[in-house]
Amino acid sequence: MEKIILTGDRPTGRLHIGHYVGSLRRRVELQDSGLFDKIFIMIADAQALTDNADNPEKIRTNIIEVALDYLAAGLDPEKSTLFIQSQVSELTELSFFYQNLVTVARLQRNPTVKAEIQMRGFSETGEDNKAGIPVGFFCYPISQAADITAFRATTVPVGEDQEPMLEQTREIVRKFNATYGPTLVEPEILLPDSAACLRLPGTDGKAKMSKSLGNCIYLSDPAEVVWEKVRGMFTDPGHLQVSDPGKVEGNTVFTYLDAFCRPEHFDKFGDCFHGKKASFDFHSLDEAKAQYRAGGLGDMMLKSFLNAVLNDTLEPIRQRRKQFEKDIPYVREVLRKGSAVAREAAAKTLADVKRAMRIDYFD
Ligand code: ATP
Ligand code: MG
Repeated sequence: MEKIILTGDRPTGRLHIGHYVGSLRRRVELQDSGLFDKIFIMIADAQALTDNADNPEKIRTNIIEVALDYLAAGLDPEKSTLFIQSQVSELTELSFFYQNLVTVARLQRNPTVKAEIQMRGFSETGEDNKAGIPVGFFCYPISQAADITAFRATTVPVGEDQEPMLEQTREIVRKFNATYGPTLVEPEILLPDSAACLRLPGTDGKAKMSKSLGNCIYLSDPAEVVWEKVRGMFTDPGHLQVSDPGKVEGNTVFTYLDAFCRPEHFDKFGDCFHGKKASFDFHSLDEAKAQYRAGGLGDMMLKSFLNAVLNDTLEPIRQRRKQFEKDIPYVREVLRKGSAVAREAAAKTLADVKRAMRIDYFD
């Protein structure tokens, strides 16, 4: 069986470092590993419209922003198919048929849908001056199953918040195959292997960095902006003096270091503290954590190190983005070509699905 990847992002804003550690970094590694036969990366505009129906311009402009972030992060159109969801109408058709295999109660139980309804402030009843839940939004796990199965994806690299989505997809595949005969491929989720990357918290310490919560460090943020955001981050509120013992658990600065710090950074950025009045003299993150716990490691010193570590990853991405920004017609062409390739792949699956469902009347 071919090894195929499908994953993607909603074009509701530029991509941030949570996307990077949760999925994007892994995609680039998998792409460059040569272990996969096909890689499909989708900009999920149709899904983004399910809760942004009144703001199509936002989605339209962010398609290019997300594509720029992809190219800047190292996704290569020669190796990966980058495409736009709405340009593959077969996906909508598949969703329509899968809807018959899922109950309303099952969708209501989906923990990600529940959490996102709450985060977006939708009301169950549409009362209290709150917006009601759009039907399209409520059904988006089904549309995600269509996206994944259309490309016969075996592997879906995503953050932890997507786990219930994958489970729902697997259920739909099993139900479809049991009802109509073996047709669809059951995908596996591929989660980040470190706890910090499963769900990177926001700069405000909230559970998830998310475009919708405004607590993000964007891949395209200039170095000064990254420093402003890092400087404003919460650490341990009880850690007032440098000499005070501090908490590492739940300290977002350490969580980001867990996600981004590599062994070579200790040599490289030992003198990162501004003014170089003191040095960050540790050889591993464990050593730094031990010192922080014991007291004697100041927040500003720690943040200066994190800033250097983050910029080590972000600077090359920023530079590549600047190059691609000069040639937007190229970016559009990548998406146009990718969408045509994706469409062909999805059409084959749709034909199989219709045959299995015995609605291939004229073939
Ligand atoms: P929105 O608020 O519009 O839903 P988002 O920031 O949640 O946007 P998505 O486009 O929904 O981003 O998610 C894209 C991918 O990035 C998914 O695989 C998701 O699991 C992953 N991801 C998003 N936020 C994080 C995070 N904070 N930590 C780890 N992975 C994340
Ligand atoms: Mg999301």
